[in-house]
Amino acid sequence: MTEVGKTLHDSLFGQKLAAGKCKNCDYPLEVHEIDFKRNRKVLKCQRCGLFHYYKKDIVGKWRLQKVAKPDFQG
Ligand SMILES: [Zn+2]
Repeated sequence: MTEVGKTLHDSLFGQKLAAGKCKNCDYPLEVHEIDFKRNRKVLKCQRCGLFHYYKKDIVGKWRLQKVAKPDFQG
């Protein structure tokens, strides 16, 4: 793995660890999608599948925008 790749991996992994827990069931969240261009990311609960939408604010801190259930459920 290249140094850049490793850094990116560590960065992603760090974000994954820092992602927090599900608002619904308190299970750890996994990274579902990251959009670096728009500074957005979507995390998904490993248990109930609830999506957590984050946006990076002006100081580079991820802030939770909304929590939503997947469309295909119910
Ligand atoms: Zn959950």
